[in-house]
Amino acid sequence: MDADSVAERLVPLLTPVLPDLPLRSRNEEIAAVRKRNYEALAARTPNFCSGCPHSTSTVLAPGQIAMGAPGCNCFNTVIEQPERHIDVMTQYGGEGLPWIGLSRYTDREHMVQHIGDGSIYHSSYLNVRWAVAAGATITFKLLYNGVVANTGAQDAVGSRGLASLTRGLESEGVARIVVMTKEPKRYRRERLAPGSRSVRPTAWWRPPTSSPGSRA
Ligand code: SF4
Repeated sequence: MDADSVAERLVPLLTPVLPDLPLRSRNEEIAAVRKRNYEALAARTPNFCSGCPHSTSTVLAPGQIAMGAPGCNCFNTVIEQPERHIDVMTQYGGEGLPWIGLSRYTDREHMVQHIGDGSIYHSSYLNVRWAVAAGATITFKLLYNGVVANTGAQDAVGSRGLASLTRGLESEGVARIVVMTKEPKRYRRERLAPGSRSVRPTAWWRPPTSSPGSRA
């Protein structure tokens, strides 16, 4: 029962007693919307906004499979491009946890887990620690944009910057840390963790030129 359904039922009752309110015109709008034919849109599936960093960050290497997390990353469950597809969504704060349990019972050796920096600082940093402690082979692909984008670009509370994050992850025992960026030079003077690198996305990280989000 949504607001429009309620309005459709209340307007006939309220109009006689509140004749000055534009109730009837609202119901006419609702009726016009209900008459629209949406079948022409049925073939479309959701995709990212043009320029969205997810367009690049969620592209998988050949053979990889991935788990997603709440946010616009959920589009990857139905997205048209197979190289961006995810097979499982976790709950917020649960990123990587299903694989830590599952990895002992499958021949698959590796999993990718998409995650945002807001989630890492909120709660999911512990998941990385647990993955290390459990010896799980997993790549957390952390989309670092400095904000909690999904809820309106609030500050990622607890953030101490990218370089500090790499040092923290290194201290937890993460085996390999790569900062993938269009501008590796920006990070040459940063105090990244020893052994970590800043590199440009390689060819298979780039979205195909035919994809809707290829401007990222
Ligand atoms: S994360 Fe932002 S830019 Fe990307 S699809 Fe969602 S709303 Fe659009």
